[in-house]
Amino acid sequence: MSTQPLKDLSTLVSLAKRRGFVFQSSEIYGGLNSCWDYGPLGAQFKLNVKMTWWKAMTRRPEIVGLDAAILMHPQVWKASGHVDGFSDPLVDCKACKNRFREDHAQKKDGKTQCPRCGSLETTEAREFNLMFKTHMGPVADEGNTVYLRPETAQGIYVNFENVASSMRKKIPFGIAQIGKSFRNEITPGNFIFRTREFEQMEMQYFVKPGTDEEWFNTWKETRWNFYKTLGFNQDKLRFHEHVGNELAHYAKAAFDVEYEFPFGWSELEGIHNRGDFDLSQHQKFSGKKLEYFDEANKEKYLPYVIETAVGCDRLALAILCDAYREEGEDKDKRVVLGLKPQLAPIKVAFLPLSKKEELQSLSQKIYADFAEDYEVDYDESGSIGKRYRRQDEIGTPLCVTIDFDSLEDQKVTVRHRDAMTQDRVSLDQLKTYVDHKLREF
Ligand code: ATP
Repeated sequence: MSTQPLKDLSTLVSLAKRRGFVFQSSEIYGGLNSCWDYGPLGAQFKLNVKMTWWKAMTRRPEIVGLDAAILMHPQVWKASGHVDGFSDPLVDCKACKNRFREDHAQKKDGKTQCPRCGSLETTEAREFNLMFKTHMGPVADEGNTVYLRPETAQGIYVNFENVASSMRKKIPFGIAQIGKSFRNEITPGNFIFRTREFEQMEMQYFVKPGTDEEWFNTWKETRWNFYKTLGFNQDKLRFHEHVGNELAHYAKAAFDVEYEFPFGWSELEGIHNRGDFDLSQHQKFSGKKLEYFDEANKEKYLPYVIETAVGCDRLALAILCDAYREEGEDKDKRVVLGLKPQLAPIKVAFLPLSKKEELQSLSQKIYADFAEDYEVDYDESGSIGKRYRRQDEIGTPLCVTIDFDSLEDQKVTVRHRDAMTQDRVSLDQLKTYVDHKLREF
């Protein structure tokens, strides 16, 4: 049977809309550029993505979680460098008035070329800060400016002391956080790949200086293995090392995990050795000592930080792109999201073969029993073939069909998404069977 991977992003965007994964924000008003809403299946899928990451982090004995506020003291962003340095160089085209990022544009004869009309007549570059500003309290003046955080990491740094002492953590230890971040991106786009409001999953690992390079390598490997266990096609993942100008001034080393999206290889996650830059900046700006005291060796030092940072929405997109496949031809064609069960928004769908009362009541009883343990769906309308196709398209690993024989023999048919094979299973064995099968994927 022929199998085709995802060819273009628009195919996925339309599936996402049609099946309730992702809708354009404020669509009935014409939409809001680069903002997206997760529909019923998308919301559950995204939760699953987050839980998978959260478990991979916080189920290690030395990593704990955190949920810091989006609004932080404005000094935080002075200390972090975001007020002065978090900007992109913007230029305007004098011919067509297009505004674009100078660092993304081609140069011709030493001049910046407008990517839209090709003109070389452009303004000087102006730095445009990417942070969203707002005001705290009823009066909007300069004195009460606050920012929507452009990354979650700073909430972790400023809580380093609180977490270490309340949780009695000894170095090395990590703090993991999932939360919204906001960036007034100049070039958002590619669906949920780059948006102005997004969710990040960041983990900062505090280590003793001198052990940082080893920990950096360990985390590179650990994160690579994470993507492996999510079932990613390994040919579509690679590391990209930051060298020369790419490397942020404070970073000792940085690697991106890149994925080959339909629009090309792009960053999925950043893994950085940030040295003691962040803690030393916060120590300086807050006037509070953030040194760690190693009791065993009677040493005091400022820990180094290894950071792993991935966008939840971006990871969700990569997973969907990777899982999408089309199988067969013409009327036998089906679209499958080959999601790992832990990521699939629905684990089991219950499909009674008829709407007759007695079948319904048995089916609903089984459905209700499973709903206590799994995300489940119940679909009684349309031909069984169409119902299977719909479940394939949203990635449901198993479908359970209840037919008239079920009333007699207390057995149901379980149909597998990938192989499309079917097994007849006794109702009293069904949970054990499903549990076992879901682990096998
Ligand atoms: P980009 O690839 O957009 O230039 P970046 O290098 O600025 O991202 P980081 O600051 O390293 O990104 O942020 C860590 C992670 O957060 C990124 O790898 C990405 O997954 C996610 N992320 C950053 N900006 C966005 C955004 N605007 N929309 C969605 N995800 C984002």
